[in-house]
Amino acid sequence: MEGHYDIIVVGAGVAGLSTALACVEQLVEAGAEDVSIAVLERSSREMRGGSSRWTGAYLRMADNNTVSEHFVEDMMAFSEGYSDEKIVRRLAAEAPAALDWLAQQGVAFEHLPTIFLTAARPRLLPVGGGKAVVERLADKVESYGVEILYETAFQHIVYESGGIVGVQVGTQQGPATIGTKAVVLASGGFEGNPEMLARYFPHPVHRLRNISPGGEQNKGEGIEAALALGAKPAGEYNSFHAEPVDPRSRMPEAVVMLFPYGILVNKLGERFVDEGEDSIDETYERISRTFLTQPGQTAYCICDQQVFEIPNYHHALGTDVEPVTAATVEELAEKLGLPAAALSRTMEDYNRAAAHNATADFQPLRKDGNAARGIAPAKSNWAMPLTKTPYVAWPLVCSIVFTYGGIATDTESRVLDRDDRPIPGLYAAGEITGLYYGKYPGATSFLRGAVYGRIAGRNAADFAAGRG
Ligand SMILES: Cc1cc2nc3c(=O)[nH]c(=O)nc-3n(C[C@H](O)[C@H](O)[C@H](O)COP(=O)(O)OP(=O)(O)OC[C@H]3O[C@@H](n4cnc5c(N)ncnc54)[C@H](O)[C@@H]3O)c2cc1C
Repeated sequence: MEGHYDIIVVGAGVAGLSTALACVEQLVEAGAEDVSIAVLERSSREMRGGSSRWTGAYLRMADNNTVSEHFVEDMMAFSEGYSDEKIVRRLAAEAPAALDWLAQQGVAFEHLPTIFLTAARPRLLPVGGGKAVVERLADKVESYGVEILYETAFQHIVYESGGIVGVQVGTQQGPATIGTKAVVLASGGFEGNPEMLARYFPHPVHRLRNISPGGEQNKGEGIEAALALGAKPAGEYNSFHAEPVDPRSRMPEAVVMLFPYGILVNKLGERFVDEGEDSIDETYERISRTFLTQPGQTAYCICDQQVFEIPNYHHALGTDVEPVTAATVEELAEKLGLPAAALSRTMEDYNRAAAHNATADFQPLRKDGNAARGIAPAKSNWAMPLTKTPYVAWPLVCSIVFTYGGIATDTESRVLDRDDRPIPGLYAAGEITGLYYGKYPGATSFLRGAVYGRIAGRNAADFAAGRG
């Protein structure tokens, strides 16, 4: 063994850092400062924080003290009842306390603008996004003398008949084994591992772009290590959270969320989805996933000049690349590389179906009920004819934000085996835990990292101090 820590936390995102801080706070309170903790982090100090570093970290909260309306009901309905309701209920119950605790670390929360021009539920944001939370937590953790071992990649758990005895890691100097008796896995999903993605997804996974550099770090070792120890899988392994991004941009989260005000066509120049079915926060994930079923896994969002009259339209644009502009449909088709005759037919059919809305009360910031008539696929809201040239268009692909498949935990963040018994000394929090099925209940993933990270930290502290 090269070194020993009583508790090892894997990953320095919101879940791992919340774990480490709650853990050290608990130990200090109990007068057990001799219990040692280390955080293992694959990336460098500058890049620490995984996906948590790159997110705006929208939180499904009405305010600091109140989760959004129908929080539990939404999460259970979106998963069609498959999410573990006990986990969802404790998440809702402890979210205000977690925000209060983050506020004590210096994080402020506000209702800032979001990428959604229409939303069914409010979102509260930490000022400075996930990066601000990561930096505050990491500084606080280090101020307690907890070591964060950067550029140290966890590989697997060393287990003997009595329980966990260590972890195997990869470092710049080569492989090493570090002794420990308690491990908290907070290393995210497997969005950064093409082999695992291909194992579970039917799509050409090389076309699935990670939405940020943070996701590239999450290669699934935590999940594989826990499964190898007999952990129970949870979450929908063959699904993931998706967003529509402009493939020309190198920006993180280069989204284009303006398609409700235009049309989406595929490489054949044909529409394939209802672009205005509901508020965009309810539809963008499903619509992004449909791109994967289209030729070349690419779509094009086509709007006219009316889109630039929508208040704050720029909030819906994460891309830093200007749209393709064209005075005519033929020119647009040529610039996008689409068949001109098919695109002209699509635009004519759509404009005919939307013609009656030319004088309608267009309400871009709420569902306006201005549907297209007699067209398939339908367009249920915001179906204005596209006539104010020049046209503008953005290519779009489906990006992966995080994977859904993970490991099962109980409400104490203890990893469960396949007979629902806690595996002694093994805890997990955040994206690595499987909770989601079907439709992602937006703005809950960061939140659950903080909530269940705190719980994992307190319980790992008690376990290592011999009180668990
Ligand atoms: C652009 C973007 C926007 C998002 N928007 C939102 C949003 O608005 N609201 C929301 O709730 N969620 C959002 N999410 C999702 C959310 O940010 C994540 O699900 C959440 O932050 C995950 O936290 P985590 O701590 O579990 O994982 P991460 O933050 O990914 O941290 C995992 C850490 O583990 C490290 N690691 C991985 N493998 C190893 C290993 N083998 N050894 C050592 N270290 C390892 C990684 O380097 C990383 O630092 C978004 C994500 C992205 C990328």
